[in-house]
Amino acid sequence: MTINQSGWKPTSPQANEGGARATFTGNKALMLEEALIFEIGDDQTTGVDFPAGDVAGSRLGNLTRKAPIGLPGLSEPETVRHYTRLSRQNYAIDLGLFPLGSCTMKHNPRLNEKMARLPGFADVHPLQPVDTVQGALGVINELAVWLIELTGMHGVAMSPKAGAHGELCGMLCIKAALEKRGEGHRKVVLVPESAHGTNPATAAFAGFTVEDIPATAEGRVDTEALKARLGPDVAAVMITNPNTCGLFERDLKAISDAVHAAGAYVYCDGANFNAIVGRVRPGDLGVDAMHINLHKTFSTPHGGGGPGSGPTVLSEALAPFGPLPFTARMKDGHIALIEEETAGDDHPDTFGRMTAFHGQMGMFTRALTYILSHGADGLRQVAEDAVLNANYVLRSLEDTLDAPFAFSGPCMHEAIFSDEGFPEGFSTIDVAKALIDEGFHPMTMYFPLVVHGAMLVEPTETESKAALDQFIGALRSVAGRAMAGDQSLKTAPHFAPRSRLDETLAARRPKLVWKEPAGTREAAE
Ligand SMILES: *Cc1c(COP(=O)(O)O)cnc(C)c1O
Repeated sequence: MTINQSGWKPTSPQANEGGARATFTGNKALMLEEALIFEIGDDQTTGVDFPAGDVAGSRLGNLTRKAPIGLPGLSEPETVRHYTRLSRQNYAIDLGLFPLGSCTMKHNPRLNEKMARLPGFADVHPLQPVDTVQGALGVINELAVWLIELTGMHGVAMSPKAGAHGELCGMLCIKAALEKRGEGHRKVVLVPESAHGTNPATAAFAGFTVEDIPATAEGRVDTEALKARLGPDVAAVMITNPNTCGLFERDLKAISDAVHAAGAYVYCDGANFNAIVGRVRPGDLGVDAMHINLHKTFSTPHGGGGPGSGPTVLSEALAPFGPLPFTARMKDGHIALIEEETAGDDHPDTFGRMTAFHGQMGMFTRALTYILSHGADGLRQVAEDAVLNANYVLRSLEDTLDAPFAFSGPCMHEAIFSDEGFPEGFSTIDVAKALIDEGFHPMTMYFPLVVHGAMLVEPTETESKAALDQFIGALRSVAGRAMAGDQSLKTAPHFAPRSRLDETLAARRPKLVWKEPAGTREAAE
């Protein structure tokens, strides 16, 4: 099959930008262009060779398909090349530093993968009899114990499937607790301005009304404004600690005390737990519920939307309201799966069930492996190294880029910069796009909203000083070009398979169905 038959035409004007010559094929060195699988496949080709069936006729009667199904047919090597070519257009933590702030894209130890692939964990079925999956349930139970230990909390709901799902779990516990107290009229949830978008979305989804709490000039929650807003209509505050400006909320204990005194609960967004694991126990700060993104703090490949896991640790006040099912180790060592509200009438207050089954087995196995292989000293070092690396980035670049909270003292695990000082017409996106040409995935852009043109860089603890120096050098160079008004930045990236896409259009009006261009079939015949 040749390139032209595949329907891809090397006419992209971007191929000429930045002085690079367009090639005949459209390929750039060994980076190969690739058309959609529907464009390269045809209905005459197949990768499998079935023997002729021995069933005469069809039992489908008049339900038999009359036209071809329209799926692309490819030989096996064509299929392998298609997906391999696409995979090379992707960026991965196994290729290089991934500075996305808030996402905690850290190296994923191979040991975790090895453990998660053991057949006793990878091949179990959620409906298997409990006696045949004692090992897998043991992993869930042991991980639960460690999460409680590391956070200083009372209980944990293991089934939420992502951070945002864990937020919903916590908010539903709070709702159930308020209703039990006869205070279901408390409807307001206070959320700081800098919060991740999932926080207000979760609160609204759970039926609460969201109100913003302002930040101080130094990037922390305005404690006085928060205290002033507390009252009989407030159900909870949702606070991120360390917060999304990369700063530790030093006043969280005082905030929790005030919130509790006002009859409300404290939800903590624990997505940034990797900055404090082994050093601070959220339970000691008065937190009532907090999700832990296992896929961030305790590693797991999680780019591109999955898989996630968001166990939610709960205080003594909220634990009785946690969801089913959960595991419990019985006196004889046997692990039971508590599935029913009515089982012995032990759990009358549970808000119910969030997912069909028990949670993400693969993630549980990876997280427990991560915790046990690091040990207490290793987990503490995770937090210390994450913070050290972020401060190295902050202090190395504060003379090049505006660092709005640099005066607030050391940052936690992420460093934040703004677009202050960029000449007219230049914005954060120009720096981010130019970083792609330098071989780096861009940092998180325009978030949190409290910083203008925010660039949120989270190097994570698994990067070496040499890797950080390379990244810092690249960002300093690109930022310097932005400050100097270098116009070539406006069309970056120049070396990527695609340059600037209309991301808004792609998000708002995505084309999800491929339509064969009119007339193609006739022309081919
Ligand atoms: C990632 C993140 C979330 C959401 O977690 P998901 O697992 O993506 O649902 C919430 N808050 C913060 C601060 C985060 O970084």
